[in-house]
Amino acid sequence: AKDLGKNRYEFYSAWMNGHSARSLALESGLRRAIERNELALHYQAKVDSHNGRIAGMEALVRWRHPELGLVPPDQFIPLAEETGLIVPLSRWVLNEACRQHAEWVNAGFPPVRIAVNLSARQFVEDGLCEEVFATLALHGLDARLLELEITESMVMANTERTFEALARLRSSGIRIAIDDFGVGYSSLSQLKQFPVDVIKIDRSFIRDIPGDPSDAAITDAIIAMSKRLKVITVAEGVETPHQWHFLREHGCDEIQGYYFCKPLEAQAFLAYALKNMEE
Ligand code: C2E
Ligand code: CA
Ligand code: CA
Ligand code: CA
Repeated sequence: AKDLGKNRYEFYSAWMNGHSARSLALESGLRRAIERNELALHYQAKVDSHNGRIAGMEALVRWRHPELGLVPPDQFIPLAEETGLIVPLSRWVLNEACRQHAEWVNAGFPPVRIAVNLSARQFVEDGLCEEVFATLALHGLDARLLELEITESMVMANTERTFEALARLRSSGIRIAIDDFGVGYSSLSQLKQFPVDVIKIDRSFIRDIPGDPSDAAITDAIIAMSKRLKVITVAEGVETPHQWHFLREHGCDEIQGYYFCKPLEAQAFLAYALKNMEE
């Protein structure tokens, strides 16, 4: 009987430590996380590929879970999308990014573009555009300083509704970026019709350049195509100077990745940005 108890305990603790216990805890906690102010934004710079100077930044959400610590978005964004919690979560993210930006500008920081990630689900709800415009107005942020990142899969699943919302946002001066570009097989004709200003080349193509000839060719082709379409290119996941140099030589406009700047808390980001601007 003693052994049985021990086995049972081991089973129980394995289960508790395992994936299912974790996702249960996440699901019940996520609902309260927004109200309890447990979400936080980290900021990662995008730099000009020619001189390494800050060209913009991306806001990335984190969850400061009271027991689990800092939970990365991959572990709760899909859950938020399934449960519909993505709507209040995204509202919080947009507001916090604009609020933080205004705080920095008020403190004398030169205004730079700030990018926020959108979820497909947000285009299903009414009033996305109104909400974005109202948030900009609330914090006195110029629309030209806001960039909205949508994934390539959202472009492919393009509904009339999404298309119209993006066109409206864009005509106010907001920049639209396609995230994770190249993995979703969107067609060139889809891209040409789409109201888009920026293409972010997916990290999977950047990882093995310049060594991998086919990744190098794909990256080069995406940059060349973007130039013809007059679209700005950003490479994500740049971790080495070799990757940076390859991208710069092939005409990629902006670089984002650990090599220049990891996602940082607001305070640390400000310190990084001030130093970057002095250099
Ligand atoms: P993403 O939008 O493609 O963001 C880039 C991810 O790559 C971030 O992961 C970033 O920390 C990471 N990264 C940046 N540079 C490097 C690098 O040099 N090397 C490597 N290995 N990784 C790098 P993170 O912050 O964990 O975010 C993961 C994903 O979660 C994001 O991918 C985005 O799809 C989603 N996400 C993050 N914040 C939000 C948000 O506020 N709303 C929505 N809807 N999704 C978000
Ligand atoms: Ca993004
Ligand atoms: Ca991406
Ligand atoms: Ca991604």
